[in-house]
Amino acid sequence: MLEVVDGRMLIGGDLVQSESGDWIDSVNPATEEKIGRFPRGNALDCNNAIAAAEAAQPAWGRLDIKERAGYLKRLAGRIREEGDALLKTEVTDTGNTISKMSFDIEAAAEQLEWYSGLASELKGETVPASARNLHLTVREPFGVVARIVPFNHPLMFAARGIGGPLAAGNTVVIKPPETSSLSAHLLGQLCREVLPPGTVNIVTGDGPSAGEPIIRHPNVKRIAFTGSVPTGMAIQRSAAEVGIKVISLELGGKNPFIVYPDADPGAVANAAVGGMNFGWSGQSCGSTSRLMVHDSIYDEVVDLVTERVAAIELGDPLDPATEMGPMNSLRQMDRVNAMIASGIADGAKLTTGGEKPEGRAFARGYWVKPTVFANVHPQMRIAREEIFGPVLSVMSWSDEEAVLDRANSTEYGLTAAIWTNDIKRALNAARRMRAGMVWVNGVGNHFKGTPYGGYKNSGVGRESCLEELLSYTEIKSIQILL
Ligand code: NAD
Repeated sequence: MLEVVDGRMLIGGDLVQSESGDWIDSVNPATEEKIGRFPRGNALDCNNAIAAAEAAQPAWGRLDIKERAGYLKRLAGRIREEGDALLKTEVTDTGNTISKMSFDIEAAAEQLEWYSGLASELKGETVPASARNLHLTVREPFGVVARIVPFNHPLMFAARGIGGPLAAGNTVVIKPPETSSLSAHLLGQLCREVLPPGTVNIVTGDGPSAGEPIIRHPNVKRIAFTGSVPTGMAIQRSAAEVGIKVISLELGGKNPFIVYPDADPGAVANAAVGGMNFGWSGQSCGSTSRLMVHDSIYDEVVDLVTERVAAIELGDPLDPATEMGPMNSLRQMDRVNAMIASGIADGAKLTTGGEKPEGRAFARGYWVKPTVFANVHPQMRIAREEIFGPVLSVMSWSDEEAVLDRANSTEYGLTAAIWTNDIKRALNAARRMRAGMVWVNGVGNHFKGTPYGGYKNSGVGRESCLEELLSYTEIKSIQILL
């Protein structure tokens, strides 16, 4: 069983402290107790990690695909074997509930295995471009890939996110989130045990100290970022200042859930609550946080949703019965409370939540009750901005064209849900959504192999699919005079 003591970074196969000598404390967001610390990496650490990744890449890239796949499968196996320790650390460090977080461990292992099986799809082509030549294409790795990870699923995004780049023959530098980096320390131990030194490197720290130097490094050509829109824009700007880079961005959402008059109100209420991902305190990019209900069933749906949300059990995230834990950090709690205050000031109707829960269990920690606002107007901030918290905004509609336009009217375009039994309406609405993932009579589920990613400011690129694997390669054309 692994134990977290002092976190370490993984650089060139060694578990190390930062050259800075500085540390960042990790705090349990349910209690505000210090549960560990990890190095505040700096530019020197980033340079060391990138140099180690560069040194390891040629040998890794030359391995037979079957050998690389074997390494990925062994890493997946070790993640499963250490699942309990990883899960406990991740739950304590993030505040997400153990009942939901257990899926993250399995998802990380499964995706590594899935990419190991998909690696033989890294095919080139022959192209009939001229009669006198044979035209071939081959796919080659970029070299060093950077993967920057957000706080809501730190382990899953780090672990599953290395499957594609490694399968394609790249080596990787991971930068975990500064509020929840302890699972990265455990992942570092497993990578060190299973993979050749330098294949995966992990530099902890905050964005400016440990993120920027990776983005700006001339030898990191391919960057995969998951996080907020402002950081995604900052990364594009920084990268553009130093060179030409290929950047995929998985960013935020303010996702619509459109309910037609023929939908069953009870089923809609259950799905609307499920779609808010309260098990992660609503801190999920795909959360359907704009519930747009037809006039004819609006009151009934608002009542049912309010009843179900008010019944959500808050408590210790390590207790399997707990349905919602705290917010991940003080910053996140403050942001959510500010958005709740803006909803109230703008005149939306608070039907449940909107405050800190009462009781000794919640005296410390970053707690916010799950919250529902009804009578939300499309111009209010709570209807337009990503809150990334447990706050659902409910609106009514009567005109189908207008609601479809309104659903598309934010800067985001990550997910959307459509609820109706009318197949023509469902398909029309699904085609109209400017979003990367549309559920019809469903919500929240992701299946490996189906591309995930955003339209508009929700990002560029797709993940968890063949396109992601291919996106970690460059195409070379070879022309042979016959
Ligand atoms: P964030 O943008 O604040 O931070 C994400 C990561 O970027 C962290 O590791 C941070 O340290 C790093 N970072 C910050 N500034 C940087 C810089 N200048 N250069 C390099 N790295 C830098 O996001 P967050 O608060 O951790 O996560 C929440 C956001 O992530 C939400 O907007 C959410 O919707 C989004 N998200 C999107 C997806 C998706 O798949 N589309 C998944 C999860 C989360």
